[in-house]
Amino acid sequence: MRIGFVGLGNMGAAMAANLLAAGHELTVYNRSPEKARPLAERGATTASSVAQACDADVVVTMLADDAATEAVTFGESGILSALPPGATHVASSTISVALSQRLTEAHIAAGQTFVAAPVFGRPEAAAAGKLFVVTAGPPPAVSALEPVFTAVGQRTFVLSTEPRVAHLVKLSGNFLIASVIESLGEAMALVGKAGVDRQDYLEVLTSTLFDAPVYRTYGGLLASRQFEPAGFAARLGLKDVRLVLAAGEELQVPLPVASLVRDRYLALLAGGGAELDWSAMGELSAWEAGGPKPGS
Ligand code: NAP
Repeated sequence: MRIGFVGLGNMGAAMAANLLAAGHELTVYNRSPEKARPLAERGATTASSVAQACDADVVVTMLADDAATEAVTFGESGILSALPPGATHVASSTISVALSQRLTEAHIAAGQTFVAAPVFGRPEAAAAGKLFVVTAGPPPAVSALEPVFTAVGQRTFVLSTEPRVAHLVKLSGNFLIASVIESLGEAMALVGKAGVDRQDYLEVLTSTLFDAPVYRTYGGLLASRQFEPAGFAARLGLKDVRLVLAAGEELQVPLPVASLVRDRYLALLAGGGAELDWSAMGELSAWEAGGPKPGS
């Protein structure tokens, strides 16, 4: 398949590499061009503009947030104006439900197709082609994208014909992860202050009732206090919790735990932790209990 890929950050670079390894004809674009070099060395074509990356059957965006996705799609010579009629824009970034809906409508009006395909899994999973893809969109387009999803992920969940549903489900998942980070951080602060070794504690958790990837991954990061380099930056974690709250407001669903977690991320960012891994938010509890500042 001829694929354009826009956004070669922590996630996008790894996903693009797997698309290339699967034999797709890949053209890559990144705002900071140096990030395209390793992919060019492996055979990808480098685009010097978003429009050039749109000379394809499919263009995938894996950008930081709503603002980046809006700029790249609606901006001058952006995806909306450059993508051929009938071609598909796949948004794998975690974006707002409102933007997902706006993209759906704009692409339909331009004679193009929009599919949401956000992913679960950190950069290590992306590098291993082991992401979980949560997708929604028009069924023929979603079916045609199967080779793309197979190249980047271990399983694909087709949720709806409405793209915004996939973005809502992705956001709800990140809300749950953030809630686990907060509660794990509180529990570790508690037992840690009483002298229990964090790794021993994690072994108890993950060998008993909490043997799930979310406890293993985030418990491991908290136990080792390994917050740099960030696999997923705290500033992006705050972005997702804000988007969850916006979705809750739109649907009139109170989310009191999400409100609390939003404030915890604000505290982490206010203390200079924007570029730490988002798991560092859990370390605030130990800090408040007299321990070291997260990331210090
Ligand atoms: P990242 O490493 O910060 O990369 C962000 C990408 O967006 C970079 O390519 C960056 O370009 C680009 N970008 C930012 N602002 C831009 C703008 N205004 N115009 C054009 N390009 C812009 O982020 P990431 O961790 O790969 O995450 C990407 C998306 O995946 C986010 O929506 C995130 O929520 C989601 N996600 C992340 C993870 C994870 O564990 N990291 C897991 C699942 C989903 P530059 O290189 O020029 O800065």
